Amino acid sequence: MVDATPGRHRFTTHDVQNQPPPLVEYDLFQSDRALNEAVAREGGGWAADGLGDFGRHLGRAETIEWGFQANRNPPVLHGFDRFGQRRDVVEFHPAWHSLMSLAVAAGVHTAPWAEPKPGAHVARAATVHMLCQIEAGVQCPITMTYGVVPALKQQPDLAQHWLPRLYSRRYDPRFLPAEEKSGALMGMGMTEKQGGSDLRANSSRAEPEGAGGPGQAYRLVGHKWFFSAPMCDAFLVLAQAPKGLSCFLLPRWTPDGAPNALRLMRLKDKLGNRANASSEVEFHDALAFLVGEEGRGIPTIIEMATYTRLDCALGSSGLMRQAVAQAIHHAQHRSAFQRKLVDQPLMTGVLADLALESEAATALSLRLARAFDRQDDAGETAFRRLMTPAAKYWICKRGIMLAGEAMEVLGGNGYVEESIMPRIYREMPVNSIWEGSGNIMCLDVLRALQRTPAAADALRAELAPARSADRRLDAFLTRLDSALAAPPDEGQARSLAEMILLAVQGALLVRFAPPAVADGFCASRLDGGRGAAFGTLPAGIDRRAIVERAAPALA
Ligand SMILES: Cc1cc2nc3c(=O)[nH]c(=O)nc-3n(C[C@H](O)[C@H](O)[C@H](O)COP(=O)(O)OP(=O)(O)OC[C@H]3O[C@@H](n4cnc5c(N)ncnc54)[C@H](O)[C@@H]3O)c2cc1C
Repeated sequence: MVDATPGRHRFTTHDVQNQPPPLVEYDLFQSDRALNEAVAREGGGWAADGLGDFGRHLGRAETIEWGFQANRNPPVLHGFDRFGQRRDVVEFHPAWHSLMSLAVAAGVHTAPWAEPKPGAHVARAATVHMLCQIEAGVQCPITMTYGVVPALKQQPDLAQHWLPRLYSRRYDPRFLPAEEKSGALMGMGMTEKQGGSDLRANSSRAEPEGAGGPGQAYRLVGHKWFFSAPMCDAFLVLAQAPKGLSCFLLPRWTPDGAPNALRLMRLKDKLGNRANASSEVEFHDALAFLVGEEGRGIPTIIEMATYTRLDCALGSSGLMRQAVAQAIHHAQHRSAFQRKLVDQPLMTGVLADLALESEAATALSLRLARAFDRQDDAGETAFRRLMTPAAKYWICKRGIMLAGEAMEVLGGNGYVEESIMPRIYREMPVNSIWEGSGNIMCLDVLRALQRTPAAADALRAELAPARSADRRLDAFLTRLDSALAAPPDEGQARSLAEMILLAVQGALLVRFAPPAVADGFCASRLDGGRGAAFGTLPAGIDRRAIVERAAPALA
C-alpha cells in the first residue's frame, strides 16, 4: 500500500508481530529473587531499600542506553597534542562518565571501607552484581579501587593521603592532580610482556631517590603490558627494587603539579570490555612511593587481588543473571509453533538449566562476600582463602558457556548487537583471564589446602549443616572427602576446584533455595548422567517452577 499524501511515500509491507518488548524500566534488585534472598541471608538485608533504588536506576531505559553508547564509542588515546607535545590522556564517551558517576555515587568503589558495618561487603557485592549487567567495563576501575584500599592500608602515611579521596562519592574525571579533585580512583599494573602469571619475572626497575624504604620516593623505569583504566589518579605497580620485587604507588601527577612520566603507548584492541580502556605503558623515570617493605611486593599486592577476584566472580554471576533474564523474557513473549517459547518443553528445560547455573553462582558469590565481612573470624578468613580462587575459576568458566546458550534462546535477535547478548558473550572470558587465569586459580586452591590447614576445616564446617538433607549431595560430599584426602596432584587441580565449588553451591541451595531449585541442581550437577550442553536436566525436575522464579518482572 502506498501513502498518497503529496511529497510522502509510506510503503507498508507488514505489521511487526511476535517480537518481545525491550527489557527496560525494571528493578534489577527486586526482580532477582536469588539476589535479594542472598543479600538478606548473608547479612546485607539492611541495605535492601538502597539496593532497590540502585536496581531501578540501572533498569531505566536511559541507563541501559548509556551502556550501549559507551560500547559503541570506545575510548580514544591522545598520545600527543597537535604540536607534538605529550598528552597521554584517554577520552571517553559521556555515557561512560554517566555510568561511572552512578557507580561512584552508589559507593560501589569503596563504600565498605568508607562506612564499615556488618554486611557492608555483601551489600556492595549486590551493587557489583547489578552494575555489570548494564555495563561491565566500568567495573574495572571500580573494582581496582575497591581492592587497592586494603593493600594501601599497609602503608599508613600514603593511606592517610589517598583514602579520603578514594572514599569520596563524587566521580571527577578531570586530568588534574588528585589534590585538586573531588574524588579519585586507582588502578594497578603487574603484567609485563615476558610474564603475567609469574610475577617474579617482572623486569621494571625501581631506584630510591634517597635512602629508600616504606613510603619513600623511587624512580621507575620499565613497562606494563596490560594497564587498564589508565585515567585513574594513581596505580599500585610492581617493580624490582634493590631488595627485590616491591609494590609502589605511582600517582598520575607528581607533588610539584607536573604529569608523572607515565607514557601511554597504545590501547588494546580487545574482544570485549570495549567501553573500558586497557593500555600498554612505559615508565620513564616515573615517580612512585614504596608501599610496605622492599622485596615484599607480591604479598602486598596479592591482598588487593583477593578483592578483585571476588569481583570477577560477582561480575560473571551478574552477567549470567542478565543473560538469563533476557532469555526468559524473550521466551515469555515469543511464540513458535503455536506456543510461547517458554512453554515448549525443550525450551523450558534449557531455561531452567540456565537459571540453575545463575542462581548457584549468585548464592555462592554472595556467600563468599560475607566472608569478606567477617575478617575477625578465623574460620571465615580460611573459607575466603580457599573459596575465592575456586569461585573465580568456576563461576567465570561457567559464565562463558552460559552466555552462548542464553544468546541462542533469542534466536537470530540474540546474535545482533542491538540485543545485549553479543556484549555479554564477549565480556565473559575476560573475568576468567584477568586477575589470575583459570589454571592459576586452581593451583591457588591447592596451595590454600596445603598451606592453610584451617581452609579444609572451614570447608567442612560450611558443608556440615547440609549433610543428610539430600542423598545426591551426601554421595557427592563422600567423593569430595576422598578427593581432599588424596595427595595433592597439580594435574587434577581443576577437578578438585570444581568439586569444592559444586559442593558449596549444592549445600547452599539445599539449605536455602526452593525445593525445585535444590532438586534440579543436585540431580544435574552432583548426580552425574547429565549431558554436556545446557538443557539436559534429568526427568522429574520441576522446570517450570525454576523458570518462574528466575523470570524478570517489568514494572
Ligand atoms: C582486558 C584485559 C585487561 C587487563 N588489565 C590488567 C591490568 O590493569 N593490570 C594488570 O596487571 N594486568 C592486566 N591484565 C593482564 C592479566 O591479568 C594477565 O593477562 C593474566 O594474569 C595472565 O597473564 P599473561 O597474559 O602473562 O599469561 P601467562 O602468564 O603467560 O599465562 C598463559 C596461560 O598459561 C596458564 N599458566 C600459567 N602458569 C601456569 C602453570 N604453572 N601451570 C598451568 N598453567 C599455567 C595461565 O593460566 C594462562 O591460561 C589484563 C588482561 C586483559 C585481557
